[in-house]
Amino acid sequence: MANRTTIEIYTRQKTLLHPLFGAGPAFCQQCQAEVTTLTPESAAGVLHLTGCAISSLIASGRLHAITTPANSLLICGASLLIAAGNNENNLD
Ligand SMILES: [Zn+2]
Repeated sequence: MANRTTIEIYTRQKTLLHPLFGAGPAFCQQCQAEVTTLTPESAAGVLHLTGCAISSLIASGRLHAITTPANSLLICGASLLIAAGNNENNLD
């Protein structure tokens, strides 16, 4: 009766919400349009880059970052497509 571990269950459920929220459209300030968004993890997978490389692409403005009301960071899908195209050109 003394041990109560219900807090752990709530923590696990919270982390599951992020990938679901990341799949929806959001307004990108830099595109001035509603765009498809990805989580930084998904963007890293699409571009075959690490999280660090994604951060520097955001810092250089090549990827657009969108902060949700829940304070999670999402990547603008339109900027991701441009960055993916540039990335392929650099590899040739
Ligand atoms: Zn954008």
